[in-house]
Amino acid sequence: MSEVTGQGERVIVDHLADSLARWLGDRDGTRHAPPWEPRQYVVLGVLPATISPPAPATTDPDGGGAGPQESPEQTIEASAVEVLGADDTALPAMALTFLVATTENRIKLAVELDFALYVEEYPTVQEQRDYVGHLATATEASQVSDESSDSESGPAGRVPPSSGSADAESAAAAHRHRRQTNVGGAWRRLNIHVDDFLLDLHTTEEHITVDAPIAECVRAAVTGHFSGEMAARPFRTRTRTISLDDLASEDQYRHALQEREDPAFEPLYPNLKVTGFVQRIGGGYLVSVSFTNATFLPRRQFQDLSAYDCRMRVYPQSPAALLSQRFELAPRDYRYMDDVSLICGQGNACVAEPLPGGGVGTTTLPRFYQHAVLHRADHVPPLAWDDLAADPDPVLDGVESAMQMYLDEWDAFLRGVRDDVRPESMREREAFASEVERFQLGREAMRGDPRLAQAFRMANAVFGETNAAKGYDQWRLFQLVYIVSQLPALAAREHRDVAEFVREVEFADVLWIPTGGGKTEAYLGLLVIALFYDRLRGKTRGVTAWLKFPLRMLSVQQLARVLRVLVTAERHRAAVMPGSGAPFELGYLVGSSNTPNQLRYPAGEWWPGFAVAKDSPAGLLDERRLVAECPYCGEDRVGLDVDADAVRIKHVCRACGKTLPIYMSDEEVYRYLPSVLVGTVDKLTGFAFFGEFTQFTHGARWPGVRRSHVSMLSSDSELL
Ligand SMILES: [Zn+2]
Repeated sequence: MSEVTGQGERVIVDHLADSLARWLGDRDGTRHAPPWEPRQYVVLGVLPATISPPAPATTDPDGGGAGPQESPEQTIEASAVEVLGADDTALPAMALTFLVATTENRIKLAVELDFALYVEEYPTVQEQRDYVGHLATATEASQVSDESSDSESGPAGRVPPSSGSADAESAAAAHRHRRQTNVGGAWRRLNIHVDDFLLDLHTTEEHITVDAPIAECVRAAVTGHFSGEMAARPFRTRTRTISLDDLASEDQYRHALQEREDPAFEPLYPNLKVTGFVQRIGGGYLVSVSFTNATFLPRRQFQDLSAYDCRMRVYPQSPAALLSQRFELAPRDYRYMDDVSLICGQGNACVAEPLPGGGVGTTTLPRFYQHAVLHRADHVPPLAWDDLAADPDPVLDGVESAMQMYLDEWDAFLRGVRDDVRPESMREREAFASEVERFQLGREAMRGDPRLAQAFRMANAVFGETNAAKGYDQWRLFQLVYIVSQLPALAAREHRDVAEFVREVEFADVLWIPTGGGKTEAYLGLLVIALFYDRLRGKTRGVTAWLKFPLRMLSVQQLARVLRVLVTAERHRAAVMPGSGAPFELGYLVGSSNTPNQLRYPAGEWWPGFAVAKDSPAGLLDERRLVAECPYCGEDRVGLDVDADAVRIKHVCRACGKTLPIYMSDEEVYRYLPSVLVGTVDKLTGFAFFGEFTQFTHGARWPGVRRSHVSMLSSDSELL
């Protein structure tokens, strides 16, 4: 675990994440020509202004409209006061909560803010021309005719509907209706940095708010913008249009814009504030600091009053100091004793991250680095398949003594461990001790039953052979320990009198390891041992294992892998123990829509029904195969043939001519009871509905007589 790997990956991921943050936060943004709007493109750390339109008028059930009514303005004022007075949590905010230690009854925090305001400028005449071109291609309807922009009727003036009756009149109208165009907005990003100001908090839960230093910066930025020539202002008219003719020259364009501006316009300033309070908790103080956009408006304004890409940094001032907090969901045990479970604080609408200099800051695009888990291999002999196939004892002795040594180390650790960590660490120690015992019990089972020991050795030979081409030659440690620990449950089938073995059957084990860690190999190893053990102990046919997957996709993906191992295992069985029973085969038991699970019926597009299928030209059904790659020759040329006499759908390799040991319909699975079933987990409910399922657990009534299997499906007698 000590070796640091993946540095290259980390550099790439950091670079991509940085680029993503710059893009989502528009951090490199300066000025954006139309069409562009901050509320569409800037999505990190946005604290919007709150727009609350008046509530819809309530209808009087008595039908009387008389009596004094609140004006809309009064309603708005009331709701604004209500929201602002009630609780700041109703307003957009990002907050940090962290633990502080101090010897005084007040806590001083230095706070630093960064955010962006977006202000609108007029496009240059060229930008506006480009924008008109863009609109024309985007939609034909973007160029509007609007008389009212030239009229004196004021902002509320509406365009009178054009009569379009008499020819003379429409000609005159056409003259008046000069072609108009919407004026686009060019948005400029103003990066605002509010240098550290102090938040002086009492330890009495009193809320302290600071807004003056922020307001000063905001006012300077917004005023600076509106003192510029190109600052866009609202028009006197409802629409924001000028004549296309005005785009003839820069002067004419500027003149047209200025002519339309509303002289009464006064800029607004977003109301941003920082609020903090302290709660006593245990031996320290829990401090909350929030950055809030308290701008509250009855209707959308000309300006965008949201704060974008907001970031806050907070530094407790001496003697106050930031304390690490424990992540409370992490168990209190040896694994999470130190920095692994410590956090610098919690974020609301952001994630808290530690800062150099003892501070805590917000981030709105957090990153988490998942460490790759590497298996220790320095304390055990190589777990090579060939060695285990020849003589497992030296390897298993090595594993057992390494486990014992680890247990001793653990005991030494527990003698000196902190009190808060001891109970959970003790429990974990006991769990590991029972793993050691189960491993020892697995070895005992092999010593007590030579058939199990032989099955174990043969399975290792199968894995050595199956994986040789891929360059693997050994188990991972957890795989081998898992397999050996499960052997008592297999031995219990033959040794009902050994209580320790029988007790193992009472438990279901959960093997947890991250994706790609090798779970599948582990249970396939156990499966192959069970297959050999069954034949060695006289179970000549029938189901040994049923692999259940949550998704059909997973079950199909695993088929080829299982089949490869199974084919190798069958070759070993036939060579080492001929006459031991039926060959190892695979059954795909997955249900109605996924395979022709009932051979008789047409089942949608997937399967035309047996009657149609058996008369289909050869190769026509090939694409409905479950496995593409031949487990015998490795060629990707597996196809489907229908065997009308046997009432079977066969996977056949077109390259080597071999028939793959796979049954793809439920009815074939019932008839042949292949040794391994693969399917989705929901098929387990079949035990409640289909009598045929009983065969999986109890075998056929007349073992060894294949046709009698079919005759058991009494309702399906036409299959005969
Ligand atoms: Zn083949």
